[in-house]
Amino acid sequence: MFGPHRGLPSIGCKHNRFLAYWTCSGILEYWNDGMLGVRADFRNPLFQNSIIPLFQPHNEVVSDHARRRSRHRGRTWLLRTANSLVVPSPAKINLFLKVVGKRPDGYHDIVTLVSRIGLFDTVVLTLDKASIRVECDHPKVPEDSSNLAHRAAASFFRALSIDHGVDIFIDKVIPVAAGLGGGSSNAAAVLTGLNECYGLPLTDGQLRQIALGLGADVPFFLFRKPAVARGIGGDLEPYEDLSQQPVVLVCPRFEVPTGWVYKNFNLGLTNYGKDIKIPPLKTHFSRAKPFLFNDLEQVTVKRFPEISLIKKGLRDLGAEIALMSGSGPSVFGLFSDVHLAAKAVEKMKDRGDWDTFWVPLLLS
Ligand code: ATP
Repeated sequence: MFGPHRGLPSIGCKHNRFLAYWTCSGILEYWNDGMLGVRADFRNPLFQNSIIPLFQPHNEVVSDHARRRSRHRGRTWLLRTANSLVVPSPAKINLFLKVVGKRPDGYHDIVTLVSRIGLFDTVVLTLDKASIRVECDHPKVPEDSSNLAHRAAASFFRALSIDHGVDIFIDKVIPVAAGLGGGSSNAAAVLTGLNECYGLPLTDGQLRQIALGLGADVPFFLFRKPAVARGIGGDLEPYEDLSQQPVVLVCPRFEVPTGWVYKNFNLGLTNYGKDIKIPPLKTHFSRAKPFLFNDLEQVTVKRFPEISLIKKGLRDLGAEIALMSGSGPSVFGLFSDVHLAAKAVEKMKDRGDWDTFWVPLLLS
C-alpha cells in the first residue's frame, strides 16, 4: 500500500472527502507555501470572494493572518513536498454536443462545448520509484497498466527515453464512467505533474501530442479553459462567451460505457450541418437555449429513462438548461438564480438514488 498518508501532508485520503464537500461550493486552490483551500467566486452571496477553510500539513486550520497572507501570494495549482506532488484533477461537462460524422476508422467526429467544473479527484505523484504503480480507492477503477493515469506516465517516460517510475495515488471523487471525463482528467494531471517534477522538459505541443494518443478528452484537460472541441475532440479553440453560473450536477449511480453509446448512435437522426455556431452563454440563456443539446441523449436516455426524469426535475426546479454530459448518465442544470440552485440541490438529494453536487464552472 502506498498513498498520500506516507511521506505527504495529511491531505490525501483522510481529508479529501471533506475537501470534496467544500469543492461542491467553490474552487479548490493550492498555494505554493503548502496550504490549500477553497475559493468561491461565483454568484453565491454566501461565498462571494471568500476563502473558506484552509488547511496546512498536519491538518491545522490556518490562522487568519496566514489566510490573509495567502491571498496575496502567487497561486499555484500544485502542492509539492520533497518527492511528492499533489495535483487536483477536475471533471468536465459538455454544454453542447453534436455528432457531425463517422470516420472510416469507426470514430465519430463531434463538435462540443466543454468546460471544467469544480469537482475534483486528487492525484498524488511520488517520485524516485523503480516502476509505475497506480492505486485508486474506487473499486471500478483499474490499477494495472490499463489505467489512463498509468498510460500517461508510461508515455511521458517514453517521450523522454528514460526508464523511471512513479507511484500514482488517485483519490476518486468524480463518478466513474459518468460522462464527466474523470480518467482523462487524471491522465492530464499525471502529464502536467510529471512535466513539472522533471523541470518542464516537454513543451505544451509535445504534451498535447501525448495527450491525443491517450484519449480524445485528455488534450482538453491540458487546455485549462472552456473550449469548443472538434474532430474526435482534440481540435480545440477557446470559448470565451461563458460566464459563471451555478451548476447543479446529478449523477445516477450506474455507469454508461462511452463506446457502447457511440456504437448505438444513429447519425441519420441528426439534422444539423457541420457549420455550427454556438451562441454566447452569458447570463441570458433564452436565445441560446434552442441551440443547446446533446446528440448522445438519443442513445443513453432511450436505454435509461431515469435521465429524462432528472432533466425534468432540474427544469421544474428552475434550471434554465438541463442536459446530459458527454455519453452520460450525469445530468447538469444551469441556473441563473443562485437561490433556486441551492433549493434544487436539496430537493434533488431527496429524490432517487443519485449523487448531487453544486459546482462552479472553472473558467480559467
Ligand atoms: P470517457 O472518457 O470514456 O467518456 P467517462 O468520462 O464517462 O469516460 P471515466 O470516469 O473516465 O468515464 O471512466 C471510463 C472507464 O475508464 C472506466 O470504466 C474505467 O474502467 C476506465 N479508467 C481507466 N483509468 C481510469 C481512471 N484513472 N479513472 C477512472 N476510470 C478509469
